Amino acid sequence: MTVAQGIGVSAGIAFGPIVVVGSPITPPADEAPTADAENKIRHAFAAVASDLESRIAHVDDTAAGILSATAMLARDPSLVDGAIARAKAGNGPATAIDGATREFMDQFEALGGYFAERATDLRDVGDRAIAAILDHPAPGVPTLQGECVLVAHDLAPAETATLDRTKVLGIITEAGGRTSHTAILAAQMEIPAVVKLAEAAHLHDGDLVMVDGDAGTVHLDPTEETVTQHRARVDRRKSVLASSTGLGMTRDGKQVKLLANIGGVEDATIAAGSGVEGVGLFRTEFVFLSASSAPSVDEQAEIYRQVFSPFTGQRVVVRTLDAGADKPLPFANLGVEENPALGRRGLRLSAERPELLDAQLEAISIAAKDTGADAWVMAPMVADAQEAAWFARRVRENGLGTVGVMIEVPSAALRAHHVMAEVDFGSLGTNDLAQYTMAADRMQGELAELLDPWQPAVLDVVAAASAGASVNGKPMGVCGESAGDPLMALVLAGLGISSLSMAPSRVPLVRFALSQHTFAQCARLAHLARSARTPYDGREAVNAACDPELASIL
Ligand code: PEP
Ligand code: MG
Repeated sequence: MTVAQGIGVSAGIAFGPIVVVGSPITPPADEAPTADAENKIRHAFAAVASDLESRIAHVDDTAAGILSATAMLARDPSLVDGAIARAKAGNGPATAIDGATREFMDQFEALGGYFAERATDLRDVGDRAIAAILDHPAPGVPTLQGECVLVAHDLAPAETATLDRTKVLGIITEAGGRTSHTAILAAQMEIPAVVKLAEAAHLHDGDLVMVDGDAGTVHLDPTEETVTQHRARVDRRKSVLASSTGLGMTRDGKQVKLLANIGGVEDATIAAGSGVEGVGLFRTEFVFLSASSAPSVDEQAEIYRQVFSPFTGQRVVVRTLDAGADKPLPFANLGVEENPALGRRGLRLSAERPELLDAQLEAISIAAKDTGADAWVMAPMVADAQEAAWFARRVRENGLGTVGVMIEVPSAALRAHHVMAEVDFGSLGTNDLAQYTMAADRMQGELAELLDPWQPAVLDVVAAASAGASVNGKPMGVCGESAGDPLMALVLAGLGISSLSMAPSRVPLVRFALSQHTFAQCARLAHLARSARTPYDGREAVNAACDPELASIL
């Protein structure tokens, strides 16, 4: 490979040496027993524990807690002895570790609750020890010695969230898609990223690559000239965008609020310094991904206060917990489901565990009062008007004034006329809306084309939602990843969308795009996109018809 094409999910150019994030390795089926197995096993577990412990000093408190708890498992004598007993019974050392790990995982799972949630950590410890025995790179992100571009099959949300931003220049994954959470987190952390790159498996530690997060390309061993050319385009874009400040609006003055998507305190601080007009989506579940028990009202209020503080007097749209499917929260687990994306997730979970919702609403209300932020609250995965009414009542009972719903299920979009009558605002989650409109799992990289927000069918559903909001005189925004695509932003504005929420790094380009077009031009671009036969045709048509200065920096 010299230049490989994937999907660009986080803008910018990164140039540096590769560090491969190891995948778990299975012990060979014919692994022979060895005389020094006991020593090897003890050594492998001790090495795993020391490696995890050595990383604690370099991460924040949440990540440090995860690392030290995992290291303790690696030092657990019963796990080590269990593996040694299996080796003595005739297993090869890696097979013995695998067997003991599985046995302990079964026991943890049978105990349920806190222990069941630790089964994944145990698997991680087992995988690391097996890799140590077989002299294979450890799975997961290794200790980083310097600046690098990470290459992985995929990264779990918790893994991405604990990355060292000062060292990770870029991210490449073999799996994933435009709306996978690795993509979303990378964009929020402003790390250039390309996902769904088939050639990722052929990259090795130390290979020099250039990641172009805008074009979605990865150049292996690029010439100096190539890096310079790409950097020049990025510089041209930077200088155009430097003058893009102020409120989001079309050339003829129609306002389109530009807001930030955030996942926690650090994101909030970055967003506040980036010239956005508030927060359009605070994904609260991201804060609690590694919590093993439900956070108390006080714990939540403290975190929300820190998130709201930089936004006194500004809008902060807080989404209540969207647990389930691709964002499992251990403490909100309702058990195994055949199809979690179609199961009791989002607001459906709140119906079964109302105490979680009430605690969260109370905490949001306290933090809003303490900080003076204009907290708007919205529910994920609302399917119909009855659900919207149920949620609105509960939010208002908690003293919160502005309540909304995410429109990410096609039924809610098609019936927005009724749904929007129950609430004060709507926000289109185009990631899930594309998933459910096209019946294509957003976690499945191979289905990226179906998940493309330029799919004319998805745009028809967006248009229906916008029309339903406008009949009720209620604002409808977009907070899915499509809001950060400057050409799509023009289309959305043309469909009557009044706010766009995105990774803060996308805001200047979207602001510039809007400023170059009148509302009537946006409406014409929307018509072009919706009239197209394929997503590709739609994007091309809009690209060809938009302002040439914008097209030259995309
Ligand atoms: C969406 O579905 O578009 C959305 C914004 O929510 P999430 O990506 O967190 O599911
Ligand atoms: Mg969603």
